[in-house]
This record gives sequence, structure tokens and C-alpha cells, in this order.
Amino acid sequence: MRSRSGAIDWRAQKRKAGLMKSLVLERKDALSLRDFPEISRAEEALGPRDVRVKLHTVGICGSDVHYYTHGRIGPFVVNAPMILGHEASGTVIEVGAEVTTLKEGDRVCMEPGIPDPNSRATRLGMYNVDPAVRFWATPPVHGILRPTCVHPEAFTYKLPDNVSFAEAAMVEPLAVGVHAATKARVKPGDVAVVMGAGPIGLVTALSALAAGCARVYVSDLSDAKLEIAASLSQAITPVNIRSENLVETVQRETDGWGADIVFEATGSPQAAAQVFEPLAPGGCVVMIGGQPDPISYDAGAAMVREARVENIFRYAHVFPRCVGMLASGAIDVKPLITRTFSFDDSVHAFEVAASAPAGDVKMQIELPQ
Ligand SMILES: [Zn+2]
Repeated sequence: MRSRSGAIDWRAQKRKAGLMKSLVLERKDALSLRDFPEISRAEEALGPRDVRVKLHTVGICGSDVHYYTHGRIGPFVVNAPMILGHEASGTVIEVGAEVTTLKEGDRVCMEPGIPDPNSRATRLGMYNVDPAVRFWATPPVHGILRPTCVHPEAFTYKLPDNVSFAEAAMVEPLAVGVHAATKARVKPGDVAVVMGAGPIGLVTALSALAAGCARVYVSDLSDAKLEIAASLSQAITPVNIRSENLVETVQRETDGWGADIVFEATGSPQAAAQVFEPLAPGGCVVMIGGQPDPISYDAGAAMVREARVENIFRYAHVFPRCVGMLASGAIDVKPLITRTFSFDDSVHAFEVAASAPAGDVKMQIELPQ
């Protein structure tokens, strides 16, 4: 639908599609699908270097579910109704006057954190740790389970034809794994352990393999999740820590040397307490899982190995790499997408996600087009 000036009339398009509603977290345990006039007004403003995107697919993240079930994550508290969702793909429907790399009709994915371009952290290349970063669905910033959004061109990435909207909505979690593998400085032939077979654990295993690992041991308590892990690659060895000792397995299969890299992707204090045990001398531990409270850490085990410890916070500079690996087939995230809901069904989708079904990795919501 085009206006007289020739531009796509996105308001009319939204009205036509009956697509005005947003998924709103009213407060802890209360979601509704409703009009959200405040955001509609905010969306009127398109800066010269912004694009307007019609959302297509949005993944449900553990953080979205946590805000729903707990009303807060650490210092971030939901004090006012907030739109959820930050893992997104869509189609460009309007571009600002100075936009050069994108045009109407381009299929894209979006990086959800927008830093202050002039901050010290951004100028140093660490824009993800800019204290002023505005990140979707982190209070008080709204997420994108809504018809359209306005986003900077610089954080919007064009998709090749062979990357689907569903795969593109996986770029955000995949970026965490790719950032973790980058920080670990994987070398070809490294052996890695990934603690945790949730979505982040699995994208980390895929990223570690793409970065050159010869073998990745993935540990978890859920057989269903480990089955999915094992299905991703012959180079992945699943370890159910209910029935098998992870350290013994890794030691046995590495001639007693240990793993070059251990990725902690559970966020469990118990897992973190043992994170150095499977690690080889001179190895690297990457802490990925969120730890809302202080945890204890075996400094002696780290010391005798001269372990390097890396911490990551989200990601920086990796979205184009993720898109490139999905396009080339170097990484396939499709097996991780285990359920898709329609937007009308999104409150139900969150109820299902909050029940944490053992056989599901990533659930996504598809918006009507
Ligand atoms: Zn996420």
C-alpha cells in the first residue's frame, strides 16, 4: 500500500493487517496483547540514519521469560508496562534521508543494543559495555513484539536470500556464542567443554566448532536437550551429568590433559564452582551464564593451571559474522528452533516457555505480514 508520494504507507498497512497490538508485560506474571499508544507515537519519528522495520519473527529469550516470571533481572526491574522481545528479524519499510546501505523491501535482522556513539566504551570498540546502552526489553526500554520499530541503520543487517526470517531471529543468541568463542581465542583442533545445553550452550557449541574446535563436550541434566546437542554435529559428545562424571570423561578422552576451553553456559553457581576441573593447564574458561548473585570460584584450581578467565556481556561486532556463517552453511541453527507460535497466540507461547519444556530449545513467534 503506497501513499501519493510513492512511499509505503506503513500506518495504513498496519491498519489493514489489523496489526496494531503489542505483547505487553503489564507486571510480573501478567501479559496482554493490546494496543500500546505510547510506542505508536514514539515510532512516528524516523531519524536521517534510521530505518523503519516491519517485524517478522521474534525469538523468546530466557530473559523475556525471567521478566515475566520474576518481574526483574538483577538491578533491572519492571516498574511499568513493557513490551517484550529482542531477538528479531523483519523487512525494511522506510529509510531515513541519509541511509545508504539499506532500502525498502530489504530483509534484515537487528542488533538490540544501541550504545551512545560518543561514549568512551564505544570509542574503545567495547560498545556492549557502554553503561548508556539501550537494549530492547530491558526496563525501561521496550522490546519488539510489536508491528514495527525504528532502528539505526548501523545496527540493522541485510540478509542474503538463503537466510530465512526464523534463522535471522537466531542471530541474536548466536552472537553470544560467537562472541564467547572469539574471547576464548579458539585454535584449530582445540577441545572444548560447554556446560549447559540450553539455547546459549548450543549456539556456543556450534560457534566453538565453527571456530575450529575438534571436539566439544556438552553437559546437561536433560537427555532431551543432549539429544538435540548430539544431533548438531558428530564432533559433539553429550554428557549427562546425572549418570556420567564430566571431568572423568574429559580426562579419559584427552589422555588426562583436560579441555583447552571450558564455556560455562548454565548460570548455575554449582556448575561455576567446578568450572576449572575439566580444564587443561594453560586453558581458558569463558563465563557466559548470568549470575545474579555473587558466586564462589576455585582460585586454587585456576592458579595451578594458569587458567585464563574471560567474562562476556552480550556481544559486539559479531552480527555480520553470524549472518555470514548462516548464509554459507558454516553454522546451521535450524535444529534449535523447536516451536513456532503465531503472534495471536503469544501470551500462550510465554506460558509454555515459562514451563520450560525439556524437549524445547528455541521458541519463536511469527508476526502476521
Ligand atoms: Zn536473547
